Amino acid sequence: MQTNVTIETILSHATLYAPKDGALIRRAYDFSAQAHEGQLRKSGEPYITHPLAVAFKLAEMRLSPHVVAAGLLHDVTEDTPRTIQQIEAEFGTDIARLVNRATKLGNLKYRGKERYAENLRNTFVAMAEDVRVVFLKFTDRIHNLETLAALPPEKQRRIALEAIEIYARIADRLGIGKLKEELEDLAFPFAYPEAYASFRETTDMIRTDLASLLEEYKHKLHCILSSSSLSYLRLEGRVKRQYSLYRKLQEPKYEQNPLLISDLIAVRIITKTTEDCYQTLGLVHTHFRPAPEKFKDYIATPKPNGYQSLHTVVFTPHGQFLEIQIRTQEMHDQSIFGAAAHFHYTESGKPDAGIPVSYEKLQWLTQLQKMNQETEDLDELLNFLKLDMFEHRIFVFTPQGDPIDLPEGATPVDFAYHIHTDLGHSTIGAKINGTFSRLDTPLTSGDVVEILRDKKRKSPSPKWFSFVKTHLAKTHIKEALTKFKKKLANTSRISP
Ligand code: MN
Repeated sequence: MQTNVTIETILSHATLYAPKDGALIRRAYDFSAQAHEGQLRKSGEPYITHPLAVAFKLAEMRLSPHVVAAGLLHDVTEDTPRTIQQIEAEFGTDIARLVNRATKLGNLKYRGKERYAENLRNTFVAMAEDVRVVFLKFTDRIHNLETLAALPPEKQRRIALEAIEIYARIADRLGIGKLKEELEDLAFPFAYPEAYASFRETTDMIRTDLASLLEEYKHKLHCILSSSSLSYLRLEGRVKRQYSLYRKLQEPKYEQNPLLISDLIAVRIITKTTEDCYQTLGLVHTHFRPAPEKFKDYIATPKPNGYQSLHTVVFTPHGQFLEIQIRTQEMHDQSIFGAAAHFHYTESGKPDAGIPVSYEKLQWLTQLQKMNQETEDLDELLNFLKLDMFEHRIFVFTPQGDPIDLPEGATPVDFAYHIHTDLGHSTIGAKINGTFSRLDTPLTSGDVVEILRDKKRKSPSPKWFSFVKTHLAKTHIKEALTKFKKKLANTSRISP
């Protein structure tokens, strides 16, 4: 987390920008600092620290000067007497429009299903109109997550859930891996505090060990590569991020043995050309034995979000899997910044005149844009998004309107355990969209689910085990039943 960002930090980071751009960014800062003068955040810090942090993240992602300026100005019309007209007069139409769209995107009047639908629609409409707005909005959200501790717990949880279950997915779909991971890891402790605590307890040690193994393999690969005739630009490495590891550990086979996860550690080799990628792969495979059926050629067949890379998993001397990703700098930029990779050097948020060729790879975005122009039908648009983005997952809602993400076929019991173990154990009935329903009813996206509970009840019904879909629910039910049986055995022994 970047603390104490000043305008100088941003300007010194923005080495890509021409002097006139630096001047523009500084003017935006002066305007915003004056407008927010005297205002404080919930944390007690001066308000300007927030737009500064947002602008810094945007500069760090190498987004264009207009976006950085808009980042500095993004809360001005909302929270101060300054108007959008004043911003337009001072900074021109493009920046004013960016600020205006980002503000609109933040204003959600609805709750529950409508809120979710509206949220998605607004985000996608904004994205189709000008993808830069989405980066503005997402970095805003990330900084809010970083400063979540200052809010009351109920609000923390709601914001964190929304970040994981909606925004991280959108970021993923846009191919912006960096934002997705940041959103998830920041929100994790607030969204699922119980799970987070036990996750840390069991994995902190493993993660430390992995970090030192990673260094060892990086060194080894460096030696191999530099003594070959191949040219490569850089080597990078990472230990699997927290939330992504947590999700993986939900799968039974990995829960038993986390070391089976093939991408616990990964090394990335950045090469100059596509041919170098394939040659490097050959070299890697002559030194490390590849794990069968783990090789993926996303260069020849990119992922739908545009991601390209070669992936291979190899066995290491320590009996540990190591994932190796090989790609060019251009592919690397695409993987971290997604759609933003194509907007580094242009002020056009629209994929029209003068767009880089690679933008065409994001076919679904073009398709979405077309659909948005052609159809007024919200349901049709949403259907497209749901099918395309959230295949095999459903989104249902608590009566308070919090989105809950479950696998297809999940039931009210899965829903209850997803929210809290105690809620699961004490479930006695459910209402789906206001109607009393059986506990084994498969839920569908958009359902509002209310769990009826008997607080005195501490143990699940054995019947549930046969129909629940999530691993989480299965584990909790099994545990509770075993405990219950033991207790029963003890009681019967004592009683006369
Ligand atoms: Mn903000």
